[in-house]
Amino acid sequence: MERVILHCDLNSFYASVEELYHPEVKGKPVVVGGSEDERHGIVLARNQIAKKYNIVTAESIWQAKKKCPDLIILKPNHKRYEEFSLKVREIFLQYTDLVEPFGIDEAWLDVSNSKYFGTGKEIADKIREQIKQELGITASVGVSFNKVFAKLGSDLRKPDYTTIITKENYKEIVWPLKANEMIYVGKSSYEQLKIYGLYTIGDIANKDINFLKEKFGKWGETIWVFANGLDDSEVTRYDQRQEAKSIGNNITTFRNMENWQDVDIILNVFRSQLPQH
Ligand SMILES: [Mg+2]
Repeated sequence: MERVILHCDLNSFYASVEELYHPEVKGKPVVVGGSEDERHGIVLARNQIAKKYNIVTAESIWQAKKKCPDLIILKPNHKRYEEFSLKVREIFLQYTDLVEPFGIDEAWLDVSNSKYFGTGKEIADKIREQIKQELGITASVGVSFNKVFAKLGSDLRKPDYTTIITKENYKEIVWPLKANEMIYVGKSSYEQLKIYGLYTIGDIANKDINFLKEKFGKWGETIWVFANGLDDSEVTRYDQRQEAKSIGNNITTFRNMENWQDVDIILNVFRSQLPQH
C-alpha cells in the first residue's frame, strides 16, 4: 500500500510567535536573537520581510544590522516556543499517533490510516487551517509517499501552502532541485557532489549507484535511494520520540545530530559564536 506522509513546517516560527506578542512590529523587518549589546548574539529566526534583506539564520546580529539598519531585534522566549510547539503537536495527534517531531517547528505525520479525515491533501489543508485559527501562525505542508519527499514538499512553497509530490510528478518537481535541498545533503557534502558534476537531485538519481557507493560509501547509497523516491523509513510514533538534547550553553538542537545537514547547521551556529576580533 502506498503510504501517505505529511511533513509540516511552521513558517518563520520564532518570529511568527513574537509577532503575536508584539503587534506593533507587523510589516517591519524582524529577527529573533541575542540582544544587540551581547557581543555574540546571533539570528535565530527572521520574518518574511527580514528574509528579503538576505538576513540568514545563525549570522551575527551586527551582520544582520549592516544589511538592514532598521531591523527590529526581539529577544527569544524559548518557553513560549515550546508551548506553541506542544500545541501544534496536539493538533497533529488528532489525526494520527504516528507523529515524529524534527526540531521544534517540524514534524512528519503518517496519515496512511487516517482516511476517515480525508486524503493527504485534505488533512494537510485541515491542519494548516487549524494551526492558523487556533494559534495564529502558519505552516507549510508537504504531502508525499515517503519522508524525504514530504520534507522537500514543505520547503517548496511557503508560507501557508500544501505541496503534493506523487509518484507521477516527482521527476518533474524534485529532480530539477539543487542536491542540497535534500535532507542529508549539507553545504559541505554538496561541495563534494559538485566535484563529480552532481548538481541536482536528478543528477544523483540518474548516476550509477555503484559510483556513488565507491566515492561516498553508505552515504552515497543513501542519497541515491532518497533521490529515486525509494526512502522507506518509517514515521516514529509520538510516544516513542527521543527527548531534546542540549549542546553548549544556549543551543538546544532538539534533534539528534545524525546527519550531515544537522552537523552543518550546528557548526555554522558555533562558528558564528566564536569571538570576533
Ligand atoms: Mg520552520
